[in-house]
Amino acid sequence: MSPARRVAVVGAGPAGLYAAEELARQDRHDVHVDVLDRLPSPYGLVRYGVAPDHPRIKSITATLSRVLDHPRVRFRGGVALGADITRQDLLDRYDAVVYAAGAPADRRMDVPGEDLPGSCSATSFVSWYSGHPDAEQPLALDAARVAVVGAGNVALDVARVLARPPEGLERTDMPEPVLAALRAGAVREVVVLARRGPRHARFTPKELRELAGLEGVDVVVDPYGPDLAEARAGDRTAQANLRVLAELAGRPPSGAPRRVELRFHARPLRVLGERRVTGLEIERTQDGPGAPADDAGERTVLPVGAVVRAVGYRGVPLDTVPFDASRGVVPNDKGRVLDVHGAVCAGEYVTGWLKRGPSGVIGTNKLDSAETVALLLDDLDRLPERELLGLDNLLESRGVRPVGLAGWARIDSAEQDLGSARGRDRTKIADWPTLLRLGRAPRPVRETVEEPPWPS
Ligand code: NAP
Repeated sequence: MSPARRVAVVGAGPAGLYAAEELARQDRHDVHVDVLDRLPSPYGLVRYGVAPDHPRIKSITATLSRVLDHPRVRFRGGVALGADITRQDLLDRYDAVVYAAGAPADRRMDVPGEDLPGSCSATSFVSWYSGHPDAEQPLALDAARVAVVGAGNVALDVARVLARPPEGLERTDMPEPVLAALRAGAVREVVVLARRGPRHARFTPKELRELAGLEGVDVVVDPYGPDLAEARAGDRTAQANLRVLAELAGRPPSGAPRRVELRFHARPLRVLGERRVTGLEIERTQDGPGAPADDAGERTVLPVGAVVRAVGYRGVPLDTVPFDASRGVVPNDKGRVLDVHGAVCAGEYVTGWLKRGPSGVIGTNKLDSAETVALLLDDLDRLPERELLGLDNLLESRGVRPVGLAGWARIDSAEQDLGSARGRDRTKIADWPTLLRLGRAPRPVRETVEEPPWPS
């Protein structure tokens, strides 16, 4: 076996942890992995993106946590690439670096009025209800009717959280101030706007059925909705969606106090209002050869007090790592990072949403990371051995106290204690000072005190 190699994985979400798992469990090379994250907690979008009322999906953390327990993997939370360390710092300290920082920013609708108070991105709304320490409440929730723009699973998550009676969220891990805001909120109607027809919806049948089955909520489909001709078209997902939509279109409203409307062929043109959102001007579209949809000419105003745009996520640049701003990804060839000239950047790799864009389910990242790591391992055969510097000494010299696995365990158990006091499995801690107080060792200690060094 060749001598021990060091790999840094930047991002402790599913893509990063799947990459770390691939690296730790192979026996071609003796590889030690540092998983770095800007946050003091691992799990990325599983913790801060998967909806709190989807505990089954969240339970994937049990599998991901085993990666961090592996003796050849270390967690270094609270370390931000670009602020605490540079790309060059990493290249000086690791044989290879895998960027797995996801797509944390939002895409925009690019319509006038998008930045009015009362208009926000799903990214900010989801971060807030998930207890992300950077997030503030982005909407006052004082409007009775809210528009959610987009026809993806994130739009359905947002619509569900806004529309469902808050009792249904009480047992989730949402921070108490979020639950209090939802309980006090005035939202009673959510209009989900898809700019194309139902055949092109990006949400999946399971999530649609879940919305359709919400207690205390009427889910209705507008008259321009699915028709039987469309139900025979499209792929299996589209067909299954169309069956649910057709059933919803034929279901008489029960008179429930809360309502979600799924409206298709509706493209937002302008967010209306002077000091805050009062409406959304929309244009009727028709499916045709044009992309994304042809203009059918008819314009209407939807009176709403808030707009949430759920039109996709977007990657952001990492320090000086090459970045394709038009696609929001790190340019790559199957995971090998490419520079502006298309040449391979030796020792640099990318995986997950930062590699392929924000698409797919959590499991998609497993295959994606396997592809990236296979190339990395091939390349390690050829990479010359180098004298590598240490990470923790550098962090200490800069006054950065990383959160190790023991620190994350303290946060984890504090959240479970908070939850159990309220009869829940967990209540998220959403503020930086508490997370860092719990996560950092009580006094500055060398990694050898809190966690053992790499096995030799
Ligand atoms: P998405 O699936 O790409 O959907 C984005 C939606 O926004 C599309 O309907 C798109 O319409 C629409 N859109 C884009 N630009 C628009 C504009 N300017 N005006 C109006 N509409 C616009 O993205 P997402 O919902 O953010 O989800 C991201 C990924 O996470 C997806 O793979 C999703 O399945 C996954 N996810 C999964 C779950 C789950 O499994 N429960 C939950 C959440 C997220 P066009 O199609 O016309 O472009």
